Amino acid sequence: MVFPVAFVFLPAWTALRFSVFFYVLAVLIGLAGLYLTPQVDQRALNAVVQFYLASVAFLYTQAIYARYREQYVDMHQIAHTDPLTRIANRRLMQDLLEKSCEVARTEKTSFAVLLIDLDHFKRINDLYGHSVGDQVLREVASLLQGVLRQDQSLARWGGEEFMVLAPKTDMHQAQELAKRIAGSLASTKVVGQFEVSASIGLATYREGDTSDMVVRRADAAMYRAKASGRNRVEVEA
Ligand code: GH3
Ligand code: MG
Ligand code: MG
Repeated sequence: MVFPVAFVFLPAWTALRFSVFFYVLAVLIGLAGLYLTPQVDQRALNAVVQFYLASVAFLYTQAIYARYREQYVDMHQIAHTDPLTRIANRRLMQDLLEKSCEVARTEKTSFAVLLIDLDHFKRINDLYGHSVGDQVLREVASLLQGVLRQDQSLARWGGEEFMVLAPKTDMHQAQELAKRIAGSLASTKVVGQFEVSASIGLATYREGDTSDMVVRRADAAMYRAKASGRNRVEVEA
């Protein structure tokens, strides 16, 4: 029982180390017993050896399981993280949007989506090079993260587009949040020298919406913000 109990209550690798230690101890005790027993019962010895071998097989499968579990956690993390900015990627945000729609539907609440597209970002690349552009994206991501509350999610939606998902948020609160984001961008010199602004489109969940519908309205609002001069917030139609 020691091995299964160890794997239930301890982290996998600790349980494995503990089990191997326990196993070696059990083998040593077994060998000592064998040495001290004048008349060894062959059937009992056979059963003990079978038990030792079965234990090795059990520990081996546990080791394999622990390794695959670790790899799974790593892969899961990689699959949901944007490698440049280290924030959530579009795939994770899409999952979060789907879940938020479900929650909003069942709990009769709303959530807001903010689509944030940096203005004239291409100019930074063209004038200062791609790696400076990359650095700007990293800094903007952490600046946005700094503005958000714990329950609000940030993702890199596309090249120079970010998305914020704010649960239990109405349009008025979403506008306040967008203003805070715009204010934070305006008051920061990114990479020590760039004034970066963004066009922000806002949408909130409406009854019967799919996640695509909310995103499409936020996207349309963002394009209106671009068309009407950039560096502004527009709400869904
Ligand atoms: P607008 O105000 O209309 O949004 O202009 P913009 O220049 O921001 O938009 P546009 O769509 O014309 O260009 C986006 C640029 O973002 C082009 C692309 O090279 C750049 N970009 C996308 N992903 C990355 C990235 O990972 N790193 C860098 N450095 N640039 C990127
Ligand atoms: Mg864009
Ligand atoms: Mg842009």
